[in-house]
Amino acid sequence: MQSTMMPAQLSLNHLLDRAGTIFGTNTVVSRRPDKSLVRHSYAEFYRRTRALGSALQKLGLKKGDRVATLCWNHHAHLEAYFGIPAAGGVMHTLNLRLAPAEIGWIADDAEDRFLIVDDVLLPLYQQFAGLHRFEKVIVFPFSGAAVPEGFADYEQLLAAADPDGFEYAPHDENDPVSMCYTSGTTGKPKGVVYSHRSTVLHSLVGALPDFTDVHSRDVVLPVTPMFHANSWGMPYIAVMLGARLVFPGPHLHPDDLLDLMTQEPPTLALGVPTIWLSLIQTYDASLKPGSPNAGRWKLPRGMKSLVGGAAVPESLIRAFDAHGIWIQQGWGMTETSPVATVSYARGELAGASLEEKYRRAAMAGTPVPLVDLRARGDDGRDQPWDGKSVGEIQVRGPYITGSYHKVGATPDKFTPDGWLRTGDVASVDELGFVRISDRTKDLIKSGGEWISSVDLENALMAHPAVAEAAVIAIPDEKWSERPLACVAFKPGESATPEAMNALLTEKGFAKWQLPERYEVIDAVPRTSTGKFYKLKLREQFPR
Ligand code: ADP
Repeated sequence: MQSTMMPAQLSLNHLLDRAGTIFGTNTVVSRRPDKSLVRHSYAEFYRRTRALGSALQKLGLKKGDRVATLCWNHHAHLEAYFGIPAAGGVMHTLNLRLAPAEIGWIADDAEDRFLIVDDVLLPLYQQFAGLHRFEKVIVFPFSGAAVPEGFADYEQLLAAADPDGFEYAPHDENDPVSMCYTSGTTGKPKGVVYSHRSTVLHSLVGALPDFTDVHSRDVVLPVTPMFHANSWGMPYIAVMLGARLVFPGPHLHPDDLLDLMTQEPPTLALGVPTIWLSLIQTYDASLKPGSPNAGRWKLPRGMKSLVGGAAVPESLIRAFDAHGIWIQQGWGMTETSPVATVSYARGELAGASLEEKYRRAAMAGTPVPLVDLRARGDDGRDQPWDGKSVGEIQVRGPYITGSYHKVGATPDKFTPDGWLRTGDVASVDELGFVRISDRTKDLIKSGGEWISSVDLENALMAHPAVAEAAVIAIPDEKWSERPLACVAFKPGESATPEAMNALLTEKGFAKWQLPERYEVIDAVPRTSTGKFYKLKLREQFPR
């Protein structure tokens, strides 16, 4: 017997059409380089996006051609998100925080044909222009200045295009729409290619009430860069549901974000823990008597907040909760589109104590629908879901990558039975809550036992004097490795190693798990996506 359902293909174009025809009056707000705000209606977004599709086809874009973007978060980047696939192309978001040589290498590896670049990022482009030849470099005049000679002007291309006559490139739901390189924190960057199907399914799951719970009445502030795993899929979700989008442009300093949050209060904001940490520290400092920023900001109470990309310390969750903002933690990777697990208020926990709720919120959470997850032990068997036994997290599902661009499915990244090896070590408990202890490469092996650097960091960051903490392994003759804690204090504060060890002991760490040594640093170095860059600390403190 055959199904009687229509064999309709899942497509991003459907989301775009909804935006244009149903949500025409909704708004996309973008912050310009001069900090002014520019507003576009969804109807304008729809028209401009179709104009971009038409312009790209006029330039000779063929199906599957890669069009790179080197852009901040703003409306034109959103137009690229939908316009490039609508024309049959593949949007390739370049990470502007990488070293120029790396960006050039990635553009070349992806064989990008065209580039859309913010005018304010042209100096960065010039630094890698020699490494890859784009057939056409299209400059988005983000600052409002004239586009320099020798480049195509994004606005002129759109003005000369034919949005009404534009026709979507015919496609199958498995055709590619976008690609993103892993940031290479733990190896050479590799290209992950998303499809219409994977993106639509990820959007549907990500928007569910248990997760981000996006509504048309939401005001969504994606602080997560649009080049970081597609800003966790939020631009697609917002467009699908007609939510108002507020893009921060190039202004990601905590003062700027707080200004924007005060001016255009979001009901949902997403970002990595490091940015949220500096956000709340800046905000709390402004509430202290005599602060030069007294009264300047208002954190939107009740705002939903998705934070992930790295472990979210419980102290951060508590700090935001003190202002009526509940942080929901997500775990995932570029390879997983990225949302694979979310920690949320499960029905079973309705009667749980606040302490227990905080404890759960500081976990990676439970796998979302369509994601299968297992923790594989060293012996190759699945670990029991007992909250104690740890193994490597492996996942599979329709929006988890099955291979890498050009590289294929290598055995270090995929199991023989086709699961993605995440390189994250975790336990899973009876309710299916995943608790990430570390990345395989960051675990500290001391005297034959593993010490979780993440657990130590999170506990240290609960110390009132500590602004940031990162724990790395240093070689040790007797124990093989020992933990070294690198700590940055809040301005004007400090704590002794004894005091910090006392806190760790209070939190249940055994004597042998305590840091061997403490180093005081100004700040923890950041990766290109704003996470703690432990590799840099390992270079700084090799022993
Ligand atoms: P990169 O691997 O270069 O950092 P990704 O953004 O793909 O780029 O990072 C994915 C990794 O980030 C995961 O494998 C995991 O180690 C880490 N990560 C993401 N979310 C969390 C989380 N909630 N808790 C702990 N680690 C996380």
